Amino acid sequence: MSVGGLGPGYRPEAWLGFPGAPAGRGVAGPGGAGGAGAPAGSGAATAEAGARRRPGFAADATLARVATGEQSIERGARGSGVVEVQRALLDLGYDLGGAGADGMFGLACQTAVADFQRRRGLAPSGYVDATTLGALETAARPDPRFDRARPLIGASVGPGQPNRTADVKAVQERLKDLGYYQGPVNGRFSNNVARSLNLFDAVVRGEGQVTRGKAAWDTSMKLDPGEDAERWLRARNGPRWEAMPRRGTGFVNDDRDAHGYGTSWLRETVERAGSPYTAYAAANPRAVQEIHINDASRRHGGDTIDHDTHETGLNLDVRLGRGNITHRSRSYDREATWASIRSFLDDGSVSRVLFNDPELLRRAEADPRYAGRLVACDGHDDHLHVEVVPPPIAER
Ligand SMILES: [Zn+2]
Repeated sequence: MSVGGLGPGYRPEAWLGFPGAPAGRGVAGPGGAGGAGAPAGSGAATAEAGARRRPGFAADATLARVATGEQSIERGARGSGVVEVQRALLDLGYDLGGAGADGMFGLACQTAVADFQRRRGLAPSGYVDATTLGALETAARPDPRFDRARPLIGASVGPGQPNRTADVKAVQERLKDLGYYQGPVNGRFSNNVARSLNLFDAVVRGEGQVTRGKAAWDTSMKLDPGEDAERWLRARNGPRWEAMPRRGTGFVNDDRDAHGYGTSWLRETVERAGSPYTAYAAANPRAVQEIHINDASRRHGGDTIDHDTHETGLNLDVRLGRGNITHRSRSYDREATWASIRSFLDDGSVSRVLFNDPELLRRAEADPRYAGRLVACDGHDDHLHVEVVPPPIAER
């Protein structure tokens, strides 16, 4: 798949990997009480991480008062407490403009706090109270098991590489945390590790297909210290491999043929896109009331028949309503389809939607927000194909 330029309205802050794990994992979602939710990584890590406070937060007198509810910090505030809040926001990938962590709570900081609150299911007040501070500390807490700022490995890992035991172990552990690897964490490089690594590598490069390392004799897939795939392994917003949810706000999952898995990036996209669609559905009671998502990827990603770009959990299909219809069918609802297309294209994570309705293609071309992003493609008369691209790395 071609990633190309990111569409207009691309918002990195909408893209943090925090909306909790999917239902069934036992991890609190964003709607939980302040402080709930897991850092990117496995649910199992949450309890361990709970023991470790963010050092700057623990040491700051102002933040101690915020934590007890004696005060809050808001626009116009200055000082070391503001610096700590800004550092946490920067660590989480929020944009504070050119000034960075300057200790002055300005408009950019207010906006970042409100975005953070929204992503955590809190009221977007734009100021930091005890609840927001708790959520911020939880989200930005260092992972006690490894240092996100340093390479996980000292030498390359891959077929024919040094594969030092500690390095392979670190890679196995992270791939396991992220859901790509189910084997033992024993420091031994195996085909199973290679397969997991190939899938992860394709995901973080935004490719719909696993290309490198596919054949056993292909040694091109190696993980080097400091390269992007290695940085993604320790990134705060690294893509987890997950079961796609069966339903959620504004969408339902029609998949019945074992393509029910994908990345957390794709899941979060669907969860966000469902909300604007519900607004359309509410205003149009005769329209299909939910986006009907279909094929994502197989249980362990990789090969799948007739679905070349469905190998890496970055793409999924959307049916045109409930039945098997095309854009030429009598029961085709063009406006509802357009609403669902816009719900996806308006999300910063989606690069393109493939679909062949000539009328909607014309409509998209006439709108600078969508021009070039709704694309005709063979075989896409009866469904939309949605492509998600990786967010910027939140490394620390
Ligand atoms: Zn497709």
